[in-house]
Amino acid sequence: MGSTAGKNWTEEDEKLLLETIDKWVENEVKPIAREYDQEDKYPHELVESMKDLGLFGATISPEYGGMGLPASVYAKVIIKVASVWMAPSGIFNSHLIMASAIERCGTDEQKTNWLPKMASGEFRGGIALTEPNAGTDLQAILTRADRNEQGYLLNGTKMWITNSMYGNCSDALLGGEEGRGLQQVLGGLELGRINVAARGAGIAEGALKMAVDYAQERETFGQPISQHQAVQLKLANMATRVEASKLLVGSAANKFDSGERCDMEAGMAKYFASEAGVFCSQEAMRIFGGYSYSTEYEIERFYRDAMLMCIGEGTNELQQLIIAKQLLERNKG
Ligand SMILES: Cc1cc2nc3c(=O)[nH]c(=O)nc-3n(C[C@H](O)[C@H](O)[C@H](O)COP(=O)(O)OP(=O)(O)OC[C@H]3O[C@@H](n4cnc5c(N)ncnc54)[C@H](O)[C@@H]3O)c2cc1C
Repeated sequence: MGSTAGKNWTEEDEKLLLETIDKWVENEVKPIAREYDQEDKYPHELVESMKDLGLFGATISPEYGGMGLPASVYAKVIIKVASVWMAPSGIFNSHLIMASAIERCGTDEQKTNWLPKMASGEFRGGIALTEPNAGTDLQAILTRADRNEQGYLLNGTKMWITNSMYGNCSDALLGGEEGRGLQQVLGGLELGRINVAARGAGIAEGALKMAVDYAQERETFGQPISQHQAVQLKLANMATRVEASKLLVGSAANKFDSGERCDMEAGMAKYFASEAGVFCSQEAMRIFGGYSYSTEYEIERFYRDAMLMCIGEGTNELQQLIIAKQLLERNKG
């Protein structure tokens, strides 16, 4: 995409952006997804095209060189990418969670120094919360940052950190005030959950598409399996969940964009859409029969990726607790 400085996103801009993403996904992501996943290769060339597309600055404000996409449009971008291969969406998504923390909580100097280079993809980052003994329970984190003459000495162990190998941001105290890290991170969770929900919806949609195509190719008892009612029931159930997921993601994102509190809505979208990803990829595997186990087809990857959406950015068990807590708080007897 060209320069978006000072831009207000219109419906036409959104259409153009999504068409560009469609082409990128079809021409550059889809052809390499299976090989890179199976060989566990990092998609460096996709990172370069993500820079060209502006994806590393997707939600960063135009004043810092980003696209300034509203969450509702960003979620549509994520759904498109994840419907073909979930992993690349994690590369810019985790980076943008860090950028959002800088934009919300950083000093003016930090914003000016970091955000333009993050928007271009020159600096790439992520969020390192999880430790071997602390995932859901963030307050159990043991890593310490001790001030010394050079700055801070970090001491601890992190694991499962997206972008840790290829990130290149060195540490600084966000906002310049000690003791605020947990609050700063928790403040970004609503958007993070909408993003994971979008990935779940994308996986569900991709799995449905594969199942619909395969069901019309594969024949048993003299006809395509799509003509058997048992298969049709599966497709109908999957399609309904895909649509419901996208509506929940859109509704949570719209609420986020309007500036309203949306922890319950983001939790519902994350919970439902990630479970829809698991359901649809599992049902698609049944439709693929024995071939679902083969890496000749890609549906097994969708099932693997779908489960991560139920775990990351707050497990689905935790989401249900958040939903119930909010429900009770908003409807006090
Ligand atoms: C591929 C991948 C990428 C990741 N990327 C990142 C990253 O970039 N940054 C990062 O910080 N982390 C990352 N993670 C880690 C991820 O966020 C954690 O795995 C997740 O938060 C769950 O933590 P845990 O694995 O320690 O599970 P645990 O917290 O040990 O939970 C285990 C089980 O207990 C349940 N449980 C725990 N507490 C409660 C409770 N109070 N009530 C009910 N049930 C409960 C959970 O729901 C879960 O079912 C990544 C993980 C993976 C697999």
